[in-house]
Amino acid sequence: MAESESDPNEKRKFTLRFEDGSERHKFTSEWPGHAALKAARKEIDPNGFTDPETAEEENSTRLYLREIGTRKLFVYKAWTWKHNHACPECGNRRVYRRKRKDPDYRCANCKAEFDTPMDASEASEKFDLDDDENGLPDYLDEDDLTEADVTRLGRSRVPDGERLTTPEEDS
Ligand SMILES: [Zn+2]
Repeated sequence: MAESESDPNEKRKFTLRFEDGSERHKFTSEWPGHAALKAARKEIDPNGFTDPETAEEENSTRLYLREIGTRKLFVYKAWTWKHNHACPECGNRRVYRRKRKDPDYRCANCKAEFDTPMDASEASEKFDLDDDENGLPDYLDEDDLTEADVTRLGRSRVPDGERLTTPEEDS
């Protein structure tokens, strides 16, 4: 398929490409960065809180997003974490795990440091927090507690001759 000129009115479509050449998911987005965030939240297992400063060494992985209709690959570094823990001092959920410091956790809101975070639902009750006050970003709700972040590393290209697929739309 020829690479089409990008039409600014047309939403771009991306798919997640794996090392073995398989492709999963179809993300519609104006920007590859948005598609990368969706891909990260879909495919990366969150494994605990991560301080943004140390995230890159701890939990990150590389994502290869192919723009559907082209052989262009957008390469991202991505990581995820969960928001089901809360600060025992103020109930905020922006609690970071630290690998190299004691105690293990620190609250981004009140700066308290502690060994064991509180369960988020207990904290909401104890501190009587509503949704605006618990520190969760707007786009997350109780059922969807995975946060993701991505950083663009660069661009690449699927070599000519390698097979491309067009996955089904799934979100
Ligand atoms: Zn706190």
